[in-house]
Amino acid sequence: MSLPSLASGPQGPDALRPLLATVLDALAEGTRARGGPLPAGGPQTVAARLRSTVGDILPDDGDPNALHTLVRALAEGAADPADPLCAAHLHGPPLAVATAADLAASALNPSLDSWDQAPAASELETLVTRALARETGATDALVTTGGTESNLLALLLARETLGPVRLVCSTAAHHSLPRATWLLGLPEPVLVPAPHGTLDPAALDHTLTTLTGPALVAATAGTTDAGLIDPLPALADICTTHGARLHIDAAYGGGLLFSDRHRPALTGLDRAHTVTLDLHKLGWQPVAAGLLTVRDPHDLHALHHRADYLSATDDTEAGIPDLLGRSLRTTRRPDILKIAVTLKTLGRSGLGALVDQVCARAHQLADLIEAHPTLELHSRPTISTVLFRPTDAPDDTVAALRRTLLHDGHAVLGRARLDGRLWLKATLLNPHTRPGDLAALLKPAEGSTPR
Ligand SMILES: *Cc1c(COP(=O)(O)O)cnc(C)c1O
Repeated sequence: MSLPSLASGPQGPDALRPLLATVLDALAEGTRARGGPLPAGGPQTVAARLRSTVGDILPDDGDPNALHTLVRALAEGAADPADPLCAAHLHGPPLAVATAADLAASALNPSLDSWDQAPAASELETLVTRALARETGATDALVTTGGTESNLLALLLARETLGPVRLVCSTAAHHSLPRATWLLGLPEPVLVPAPHGTLDPAALDHTLTTLTGPALVAATAGTTDAGLIDPLPALADICTTHGARLHIDAAYGGGLLFSDRHRPALTGLDRAHTVTLDLHKLGWQPVAAGLLTVRDPHDLHALHHRADYLSATDDTEAGIPDLLGRSLRTTRRPDILKIAVTLKTLGRSGLGALVDQVCARAHQLADLIEAHPTLELHSRPTISTVLFRPTDAPDDTVAALRRTLLHDGHAVLGRARLDGRLWLKATLLNPHTRPGDLAALLKPAEGSTPR
């Protein structure tokens, strides 16, 4: 039996080349077979097809066609964020250049838990995290798997700095924040009602006045449901007045930093102790590409950790960088490579243009809805999320409409409950979406108004 080839080393590129051709062919075939934003037929149909294609996943004797078979099956059954009608979630289409860089990360497989596994990757991470931290007015940043891990770390750093803090956030804040308090054994969070979708400064002021003990206020720059941005400067003032720590979850809105036009919407971001960024949203990265920026580098001492085999004191004293305190994970992918490649390939103007493009498309979609006789717009978009519904339709009809679209494979729209009603949600993250696609996105909702 000949041994399977390796991805790195002198033979790596030559071993990969034909396999890449297989992958690319399988992606093309699977995408063609699907022919739309997601596979038609609903969960049972998709599951049955996948099962019958895969067959025995651990056969006694291997199948040399498995790469083609499985990649094709995954592509055929994918919800493809590059299709303009796939617009439910903060699930963006990755840039080809970032995905190509991610291949190199997989091939070289550096692990960011010790310098001797990642000599250049660790330096690249330092360089890029510092640069991105500066964008938010912070000094340093940790690489995470996304907003959920960033929010957890923000609460952990707050707890280690202040003791058992109480999380104060709006009901529109991301669910990962209250969940992190549970995980970290913190007191029950205080959820401030957000009738208009954002954290109201007066309500926050009132809440902090009645609280005793240390508080971490988590504001949101880009709510998941509506893309709304909390009034950051006013909230920061109130935190200062009450001596509360401020975290800003900019998992969605953080990408606006790249755009000259939209950056002012994030004024006040630099006043946070910690900021969550998520470049697999408005940054067009393959998952995962999260960051937590930290204003005071002393806060990071809380993560300091030693394991003799990875970060011996004498090694550190001899000048070998100690990386273990940069994450709660041990083995860690170099997600920074695709981010670095993207930042340098596109530059600020290139990324800014993508941000401007998706925000402009969201406004065009809102225009179409406003002008439409049977559709209702929730509000003008702040970032690139547009909420709408067939006028006067009951919530059940709206929910069923969304499921029908999913079942038929016509479109992937999200849902959001706001102002006591259920809305269809279009989250526009695809810079290639054209005006004609917007009309197609609305088409299925047009006819469903009860007459
Ligand atoms: C998406 C999102 C998160 C969670 O990010 P993941 O990358 O999915 O872990 C956190 N906060 C907000 C506001 C989000 O939109």
